[in-house]
Amino acid sequence: MYKVIYDDRQSGHDPLYLVTNGKFVKSREHPDRAANMLKACSEAGFEIRKAKQFDRKHIHAVHSERYVKFLETAFDEWAKIPGSGAEVIPNVFPVADEAICPTSTVGRAGFHISDLAAPIGAGTWQAALGAAEAALTAAECILEGDKTAYALCRPPGHHAFSERASGYCFLNNAAIAANYLTNDNSKVALLDVDVHHGNGSQDIFYSRDDVFFASIHADPNTTYPFFWGYPEQNGKGKGEGYTANVPLPIGTNDEQFILGLNSLLQKIDDFKPDRLVISLGLDTFGGDPYKLFNLTTGCYRRMSKEIAKLGIATVIIQEGGYLCDQLGDNLTEFLTGIIDQ
Ligand SMILES: [Zn+2]
Repeated sequence: MYKVIYDDRQSGHDPLYLVTNGKFVKSREHPDRAANMLKACSEAGFEIRKAKQFDRKHIHAVHSERYVKFLETAFDEWAKIPGSGAEVIPNVFPVADEAICPTSTVGRAGFHISDLAAPIGAGTWQAALGAAEAALTAAECILEGDKTAYALCRPPGHHAFSERASGYCFLNNAAIAANYLTNDNSKVALLDVDVHHGNGSQDIFYSRDDVFFASIHADPNTTYPFFWGYPEQNGKGKGEGYTANVPLPIGTNDEQFILGLNSLLQKIDDFKPDRLVISLGLDTFGGDPYKLFNLTTGCYRRMSKEIAKLGIATVIIQEGGYLCDQLGDNLTEFLTGIIDQ
């Protein structure tokens, strides 16, 4: 039976605002997203399992210890600042690589949070840890012989760098799972199908040749995260040739998406991975509040059937996908498509 991994701690993260186009707007990363997707999994008859606890070393293999410590303690330290706001939001950012991490809470917030869409509230750390452990639990299912497993991660992770939060993301759940799956020297492909480029994941594996990172997403010239996701970004050093990006225009439809996806699947097949991790964003849907791509519900099954042709064990990690009536249907179409060959 299809295993869905979820951790109740994830619902404790309830971000208030983000800044977009010069305005504070209500965050779309709402706890109801996970509740809706969990309900759809339950109605589809999937087995819902709690995340297990894992040794922190599996998170530290991807994220620096000082960053993880910051995520764990930032909210309590922030609350002690006289007159501070309800969430940790930085007001200054380092722009040079040589920047030094300061000791003050405000300074560390700027060092460890790279945009205005990753506020840390009272429940953020526990939620991020729950999501990362859900991803590890799903990866462990694969090691124990399951063909597929799904981690309903929230907050999402693919915009989180090794020591920087951004774009709703704090711990990079997919990167943590992918790295965990390389521990026995296996080759892993990480395929990101969220409408936004997985910049954190790309950066984490940019110099590695044991994890192939492939992403299909809205053109970063027009869409967040803006600075990453271009075709000419294809890895560096030992990792050169092990990153592939397919940017597509706003309004992309099912046919255009499947065509782009198949070009990435060919590259993944050439890499001959032992295992696959999918960063599953459902914000490519035409009815998603982001309104970037124009995919239909039927495309999620098509997409996963194409992916399943690779014929390798697959961990599916939830990324974006925001509240709309079809959110649950889009998820279950994808999940059932991958096993329904
Ligand atoms: Zn997204």
